[in-house]
Amino acid sequence: MNIINHIKHRKALDLVKPYIPGKPLWEVQKELRLARVIKLASNENPIGASPNALEVISNSLTRLNRYPDAHAVELKAAIASNLSLTTKQLIITNGADELITLISETYLEAEDEIIVPSPSFSEYDFGAHLMGAKVVPVPLDNEYQFNIDLILSAVTDRTKLVYICSPNNPTGTYLPKSKLEELLQSLPNHILVVFDSAYSHFATNEDYTNGLEYVRSGYPIIVLQTFSKIFGLAGLRVGFGVAPENIIQSIVRVKEPFNVNSLAQVAAAAAIMDEEHVEKSKQVNTAGRQQLYKAFRELGLEFIESMSNFILVKFGHNANEIYQQLLCQGVIVRYGDTWGMPQHLRISVGTADENTILIEEICSIMKRQLIHFKGEIK
Ligand SMILES: *Cc1c(COP(=O)(O)O)cnc(C)c1O
Repeated sequence: MNIINHIKHRKALDLVKPYIPGKPLWEVQKELRLARVIKLASNENPIGASPNALEVISNSLTRLNRYPDAHAVELKAAIASNLSLTTKQLIITNGADELITLISETYLEAEDEIIVPSPSFSEYDFGAHLMGAKVVPVPLDNEYQFNIDLILSAVTDRTKLVYICSPNNPTGTYLPKSKLEELLQSLPNHILVVFDSAYSHFATNEDYTNGLEYVRSGYPIIVLQTFSKIFGLAGLRVGFGVAPENIIQSIVRVKEPFNVNSLAQVAAAAAIMDEEHVEKSKQVNTAGRQQLYKAFRELGLEFIESMSNFILVKFGHNANEIYQQLLCQGVIVRYGDTWGMPQHLRISVGTADENTILIEEICSIMKRQLIHFKGEIK
């Protein structure tokens, strides 16, 4: 029997595009029957999570029959003491992704506008589209830097949120402190700046800010952080927001009570206290960036210097081909067409060994293409 239904989703959802994640390791392993697969596609921590986090997780397994703490009191206390904040300035969420949705649900009426310097992280658009709000993209400049004047000129009466991702995913560029200050001082005070510093720990330039100082001084800004990147807990889903108290109180209204599971709460608290692991992860990344820069220069590949744990590299017209061939060799990176950059690949920084494999594979693919190309000319 063929039963037909006429259930229709909300019109706003027509604009919601599915998120395209980096290909998972197991999928590539299974599809291509490869013994060795390395994933440099989702900006994860290549050395894993803090051993302290793993230990507290195993100690908590016997309490899994209980609901988690709806207010994540102990995790908030750990974060507050680590970052010199009060617990009332914090909201803990199921990854920073959930927080972006919660912010959208809290502040966006249909037809409201958000400003997004582009290209950037796709979840900002998702949140707006979910609410029937409008995305106003503002291009980064030719060097992929933020253009404050363009951002300010995009502001209208309907603008509710201005997103700044710094370091920006996928470019690795950032908004210097003086520019953020200029932006905060110039924006009308009905606009909330959403400052996504998911990658803040990897930034090494002096004039970088993670935005927290502006929350402490009371500006209308919410800083997004995550345990998925430097803390190496992407699989557990936990992130947090930092903002003036009244903003946190509004967002808490739309939060589900048990949004963060109990293992994530204890692991995150242990991870943020393990400064040794954070420092080590940062060093692996800084060294890995240098290793990759050197190789890309030798190969004559254009790239953008990154303050993050990934590098956007220009491969030209062959980019998709190179992406596919890397995949066949068991190296997963991210193809740039997601961001309207079909000539680029975004490559996460791995361990020294993973970076070496990546470089060797790129070398041999480029050599093969060169031979092929010369063959065509003859
Ligand atoms: C990875 C990432 C996040 C955080 O993701 P969660 O895993 O949901 O915490 C937030 N913003 C950007 C720009 C990211 O790349």
